[in-house]
Amino acid sequence: RGINRFGTAAVAEEPIAPPVEINYTKLLINGQFVDSASGKTFPTLDPRTGGVIADIAEGDAEDINRAVSAARKAFDEGPWPKMTPYERSRILLRFADLLEKHNDDVAALEAWDSGKPYEQAANAEIPLVVRLFRYYAGWADKIHGLTVPADGPHHVQTLHEPIGVAGQIIPWNFPLLMFAWKVGPALACGNSVVLKSAEQTPLTALYAAKLFHEAGLPPGVLNVVSGYGPTAGAALASHMDVDKLAFTGSTETGKAVLGLAAQSNLKPVTLELGGKSPFIVCEDADIDEAVELAHFALFFNQGQCCCAGSRTFVHERVYDEFLEKAKARAMKRIVGDPFKKGVEQGPQIDSEQFEKILGFIRSGNESNATLECGGGRFGSKGYYVQPTIFSNVQDGMLIAQEEIFGPVQSILKFKDVNEVIRRANASKYGLAAGVFTKNIDTANTLMRALRVGTVWINCFDVFDAAIPFGGYKMSGTGREKGIYSLQNYLQVKAVVTPLKNPAWL
Ligand code: NAD
Repeated sequence: RGINRFGTAAVAEEPIAPPVEINYTKLLINGQFVDSASGKTFPTLDPRTGGVIADIAEGDAEDINRAVSAARKAFDEGPWPKMTPYERSRILLRFADLLEKHNDDVAALEAWDSGKPYEQAANAEIPLVVRLFRYYAGWADKIHGLTVPADGPHHVQTLHEPIGVAGQIIPWNFPLLMFAWKVGPALACGNSVVLKSAEQTPLTALYAAKLFHEAGLPPGVLNVVSGYGPTAGAALASHMDVDKLAFTGSTETGKAVLGLAAQSNLKPVTLELGGKSPFIVCEDADIDEAVELAHFALFFNQGQCCCAGSRTFVHERVYDEFLEKAKARAMKRIVGDPFKKGVEQGPQIDSEQFEKILGFIRSGNESNATLECGGGRFGSKGYYVQPTIFSNVQDGMLIAQEEIFGPVQSILKFKDVNEVIRRANASKYGLAAGVFTKNIDTANTLMRALRVGTVWINCFDVFDAAIPFGGYKMSGTGREKGIYSLQNYLQVKAVVTPLKNPAWL
């Protein structure tokens, strides 16, 4: 039975029972699952229905204190930073093997908690997490300083030391992938970690932390505190004994945690924030391919990607053809229960995001953009939104400026390359861009002119472990993944010693 064309069939049915049990709901502190100090719990909800999946121990400032003490002790007294880098690497590899073994269970938890299609989690995201940990395991024993030339008779070297206790705050759109981006480099460099998961999606971080301990990670090295932002998150960001903070989420919250870090102990902060990424389709592009990629760039993960290609700029000569095909593609998008085979789009994460997206759609209509398809709720329960396209979108409209974080594609028309560069860059964000052209000169011009952290040319959302990711402007500071991510978790110490009778200088 068809579940596309914005019918209600799929979501009117009873949700499919996820093929997994929930075993871990407490906080993981010092290698033990424990209740929160307050004894409080909070429900994590099923985005397909709004019903409760499980009650989770709710960490707050006191639990963050407990977790930071454990992380401090594990760092200061060892054994983690005192192990050989090769031993650390072996533990990261063992964790990756265990995660691979439990791939399908973890994918089911991820899909259940976040609403993303199970197949996407099982076939792409969790395998990518495994890949990332193997990548970071490879780095653990390849981190070292330099010997530095001196102006006088001195032996000068640099030591690349772990920074200490890393506080990490992650969002709900890619829960375990964000865990990997944060925990992987921190542990590879010999740090200990306190991670606060997003309140919407606590399940997989707890599961993964359990596997880490099975893999031989000493207690206290990785602590996971589930809980809310203003309580647990703020306590972590402002903690005097946290040496470094890494955050992914909204720009507003990014500003808040940067302020908390500055007002407490000036801990260095890396921020991975929002975006309004341009996807530029030039007149010489292969239109069918461009349509498919622009569709993927925006609708992937229910549109809940910080780097979503959410401003689709199309050259005026190919605009009509592109629009017609983009609309046909969106109308074919398969929306439904994330556990149903072949489903491309599940529900949005929660009622807040759902309402926010519907608000943006109203704003698009009020500002006289043309609603080409979609524009409302899909089905009658849960947080499903119809794949939606607006054409005739103008730069000043709210839907062209603000991050919608939902399945709403905005299509804008342009005339020439210089114009599209100016308009693409006229955003407070600078996370990513897509460029679609067969002309290498046009590609080279755009690639250098766009003020963004990633340019995908004739592709989009390629997220290999070694490719750095991060933002210009208000999309954040610092880079994650790849060699660049190690800098976030290392201190450089210069060591100088005089040389007596050196053979050479
Ligand atoms: P958010 O920034 O509020 O939440 C992200 C994380 O920060 C969560 O773990 C949350 O608990 C924590 N947090 C919230 N307030 C905090 C505080 N005062 N101190 C410390 N930690 C705090 O994001 P959200 O409310 O879940 O989503 C809102 C918007 O953020 C979305 O609509 C979207 O635009 C954007 N977003 C971006 C990303 C991204 O990857 N860049 C991810 C999720 C959401």
